[in-house]
Amino acid sequence: MKHKPLFIVISAPSGCGKSTLIDMLLEEYHDIGYSISCTTREPRGTEENGIDYHFLSRERFEDLVREGAFMEHAEVHGNYYGTLKAPIVEVLNEGHSIILDIDVQGAAKVREYVRSLPNNNPLKIGYMDVFILPPSMEELRERLEKRGTDSPATIEKRMADAEGEIARQGEYMYKVTNDDLGMCYKRLCDLIDAVSGRM
Ligand code: ADP
Ligand code: 5GP
Repeated sequence: MKHKPLFIVISAPSGCGKSTLIDMLLEEYHDIGYSISCTTREPRGTEENGIDYHFLSRERFEDLVREGAFMEHAEVHGNYYGTLKAPIVEVLNEGHSIILDIDVQGAAKVREYVRSLPNNNPLKIGYMDVFILPPSMEELRERLEKRGTDSPATIEKRMADAEGEIARQGEYMYKVTNDDLGMCYKRLCDLIDAVSGRM
């Protein structure tokens, strides 16, 4: 049976398990793609152009802004980041779904953009946004510490940011708490299946 192609926007405070959950979804759902952002920052480590990001010059990025190619864009630590409209529309028109992993502020801009579209636009028809919640602030801190990728100062910053992000959870259509990973993943899959009519 054919199901509705979805434009799935997912946000979560850092350390909640968003990347883990998205990787699990992409592994299982071969018809769900991942939206690759554009950035003007330099690639780090093993990052590859067209996989981790589309790495663009400032000039090229600014041209694309002028052309209206971005659904949203922002300047973070002196570099531009943005989500292109065209690749997302293309995936949906092919009948596939796409996940956009974006912070609360970026998600708000995307939501505003989608709201401005006519009701018959595939982006609007397939739109859903999900906020992933930590079971508690103590557990969030523990996950950040166990992950071992952030300095104590960065962990403090992420914990402070998390408060503000969690305060905006009401902006999202759906909320899923990542308590037990397997159970949270199951709830996320059930939600996606129900919204797309995949049952
Ligand atoms: P995010 O992408 O939201 O920053 P990650 O996917 O990197 O978060 O997860 C943060 C850490 O927490 C990782 O070490 C991950 O293995 C772990 N983790 C994710 N989900 C759970 C869970 N439900 N229970 C315990 N640990 C988890
Ligand atoms: P990094 O350079 O570490 O990969 O990302 C830095 C920041 O840019 C992160 O907070 C990340 O969420 C944000 N970011 C990545 N892609 C996008 C995007 O497409 N749009 C916006 N607004 N922010 C992004």
